[in-house]
Amino acid sequence: MLLIGPGTVITRDPAHPFIENGAVLTKDTKIEAVGDYEELAKKYPDAQRVSSQGRLIMPGFINAHHHIYSAFSRGLSLSNYNPSGFLEILEGMWWRIDNALNLDDSRASARAVYLSCLRNGVTTVIDHHASYKETTGSLEAIAEESLRYGIRSCLCYEISDRNGEEEAQRAIDENFRFARFAKKDPEHLAGLIGLHASFTLSDRTLEKIAQENTEGFGYHAHVAEGTLDQERSLAEHGMRVVPCLMQYDILNERSVAGHCIHVDEKEKDLLAETGVGVVHNPQSNMGNAVGAPDILGFMNRGITVGLGTDGFTSDMLESLKFANLLIKHREQDATVGGNISDLLYKGNPALAARIFPQPLGILKEGAAADVIVLDYDEITPLNGDNINGHLLFGMNGLNVVTTVSDGVVRMKDREILGLDVEKEVAGIRAQAKDFARRVNA
Ligand SMILES: [Zn+2]
Repeated sequence: MLLIGPGTVITRDPAHPFIENGAVLTKDTKIEAVGDYEELAKKYPDAQRVSSQGRLIMPGFINAHHHIYSAFSRGLSLSNYNPSGFLEILEGMWWRIDNALNLDDSRASARAVYLSCLRNGVTTVIDHHASYKETTGSLEAIAEESLRYGIRSCLCYEISDRNGEEEAQRAIDENFRFARFAKKDPEHLAGLIGLHASFTLSDRTLEKIAQENTEGFGYHAHVAEGTLDQERSLAEHGMRVVPCLMQYDILNERSVAGHCIHVDEKEKDLLAETGVGVVHNPQSNMGNAVGAPDILGFMNRGITVGLGTDGFTSDMLESLKFANLLIKHREQDATVGGNISDLLYKGNPALAARIFPQPLGILKEGAAADVIVLDYDEITPLNGDNINGHLLFGMNGLNVVTTVSDGVVRMKDREILGLDVEKEVAGIRAQAKDFARRVNA
C-alpha cells in the first residue's frame, strides 16, 4: 500500500474533484481510497508514505497518439533531405527512418520514449509504430520495455503498401499477432490494428485486413492529415477518406483516428455517426504545415476528441498549450477554446476506457494506481475552478516530480527508481549513434 500525500488532490472525479490536504491510497495496482490525508494516515498507519509535501496530486497523463519510432529523429541529420511539402517530409524523413529501424532500434526507441514518459508523468500511451527493416516481433519487443518501465501501452503497427505487398502482409500479421498476445495482460497491454493512411493503402489490402479482423479489434489510423489524403483517396478509391474507411468498418467506437484535418462537413457528421475517437496533435500539424482540425466542430457533434503528440514530445501539458493556441488561431477568435483542457482530462480517459478495462485518468476507488505529483508554487489563488488554467499556463512536464504507475513508485523527486538510468541511457545513445550511421549509409 502507498499513501501519497499530503497535497492538493485533483481527482478528475466529478463527485469530488478538488481535495485540499488530501491523499491517495493505493493497494497493489489499484486505488483503494482518495480523501483527507489525516484520516487516511490514521486509518492506514502501515501504508508506505510517498511524501508529496503539499504539492499537486493528479492522475497520470495519457498520450492518445504517440510514435515510438520517432525517438531517434531528434537532431538526426539525413543526407539529401530537402523536402518541399508534406509528402516529401514523409518520404524523405519518416519512411526512411522506419525503413531502417531494426528490432534493437525499436527496443531502444521504446526505452527512450518510456523514460521520457515517466519524467513527464505519462503513464499510458497509445502508440503507432513502424520499423520496416524488422517488422516481425517489434511490438512484442516494445511491450517488454513498456512492462519494464511501467507504462501501460496500446500498440499497433503501421500497415502500408508503400513497401510492397509482402511487407504489408508482414505488417498485417504483426498487428494481429500482437493484438491477440496483448489479450493475455489486458490491464497493461492492448493492441489495435494500425493503418498508415488511406492514401498508402490499396482497396485490396484494406479488404484483406477487414476479412482477417474477425475478432473485432479496433483500428488506429491517420485520417485526412494532409490535402493529399483526399486527392489520392478520390483518385485511387473513388471516394473521400472517411467514407472509404467506413466501407471496411475501420472507423468505429473501438478505433482511434489521428488528425482528421481535411474532412468536410459531411465527413464530420459521418465521424460522429461511427463513434470513432479523434486525436488532435497540434504541434505536429503546425510543424508539417498541414492545417488545423475543426476541434469545435467535432466537440459540438459529440465526438470524443483526445490529445496526442504524434512523436513530437511526451509532455502532454506542452501539447495542450499548442492546442489552446491553435484552436484560437484557426478560428481567428481569441475567445474560443475555453474547454480545450477537456481533450486531455476527459477525451483521453474516455479513449483509454475503450481500450483498457480499469478506469484511467481519474483518482477514485478502483481506478488504476497511476498517480503523479507536480511541484508548483502558485502565486495566484488556486482552486477547483481554475486548476485547468494553472496547469495550462503555469506548468509543463518538468513540474512532475513523482510518477507512480500500477502502484509502483517509478520516479520520486525526479529520480527514476528501479532502473539503472545511466546504463539505460548509455545503451539508447549507442544504438541511436549506430542508427544514424546506418540510415545515412
Ligand atoms: Zn501520427
